[in-house]
Amino acid sequence: MPKAEETILEIDLKALKHNFEFVKSKLKSDTKFLAVVKAFAYGSDAVEIAKYLESLGVDYFAVAYTDEGVALREAGIQTPILVLHPQPKNFKTLIKRRLEPSIYSLRVMENFIAIAKENKQKDYPIHLKFNTGLNRLGLNETEINSVSTQLILAESIKVESLFSHLAASEDENERAFTLNQIKQFKTIAKKMSNILGYEPVLHQSNTSGIFNYPDAHFNMVRSGIALYGFGNDAKFNRSLKPIATLKTIISQIHTLKKGDSLGYNRAFIATNLTKTATLPIGHADGISRQYGNKKGFVFINGKKAHIIGNVCMDMIMVDITNISCQEGDEVIVFGPHHTAENLASSIHSISYELLTNTSQRIKRVFYR
Ligand SMILES: *Cc1c(COP(=O)(O)O)cnc(C)c1O
Repeated sequence: MPKAEETILEIDLKALKHNFEFVKSKLKSDTKFLAVVKAFAYGSDAVEIAKYLESLGVDYFAVAYTDEGVALREAGIQTPILVLHPQPKNFKTLIKRRLEPSIYSLRVMENFIAIAKENKQKDYPIHLKFNTGLNRLGLNETEINSVSTQLILAESIKVESLFSHLAASEDENERAFTLNQIKQFKTIAKKMSNILGYEPVLHQSNTSGIFNYPDAHFNMVRSGIALYGFGNDAKFNRSLKPIATLKTIISQIHTLKKGDSLGYNRAFIATNLTKTATLPIGHADGISRQYGNKKGFVFINGKKAHIIGNVCMDMIMVDITNISCQEGDEVIVFGPHHTAENLASSIHSISYELLTNTSQRIKRVFYR
């Protein structure tokens, strides 16, 4: 790959294929694969990622909001798309674009049925989301009777799947809690299948659920972070490849004398002769202010350079006193070796947050 000449996010589609195949290798051959491409495919590029995964034969996509699904349809994606967190306001658009809603409450179900009927739909696919302990979104088991009264009357919709979401699938200390969530979901699935007279597709596992709870794969799994190269566990990280490398460049080098200050509010004062490099990436690009003042670091010519002073909107300054480098040299903010997880952990954050913060103004470059 050529050296970066400006700030870019490189995306390695071969790594994506590797990750897709690695997750698939954990599944039974008839388990469906839903790829989660919400939030611009975890800060990369939802359209390019979805196109590539569609070519690899993925069964389903999920996004969080309706407009994310619309963007995929506009780009020509044909695979079914589950919208995890739609609002009644979106239902007309959702139907027009053949997007499939997660129905997470009785209120949302009533609204959707009314709009599906108004739009003369028959057997429109919906996905019933049940709460089994995350207490975030979902119908409760106690609402099954009210759900079924509405469903049986409604010809406009058809329950395509039943699903739930695990709260702590990456946390071995919460194994008992997770097993209980799985048990509860099985009970709900049985009750609902009896009411419906058929068994819809069942799914409960995100990435860590897939890796840690093979008994919770059911008919489909929903993988996000693993596709992008992270497994929430050193053991799985070793088998996955981060797909995104955030690169930038040294715009200018300064030499500070003892007592000189650097950046806004003079947050850094040199105690010795200090060489600094100014880089064209800042909090507007996704490098939060919390990385400033020696918390976060980047790599230049294989050496670690700490961010010093405050993070600006479009710039950071890093300490290169002991690094041999020049203006124009490439800088790695995160990538396969200095990972997003590694950088995020310096401010007690997680790969998910750092990746999804990657601003839309950074150019994406794809490698196949
Ligand atoms: C985001 C999300 C996922 C994907 O989780 P990963 O840990 O990234 O695999 C799966 N299911 C739901 C409901 C989600 O919101």
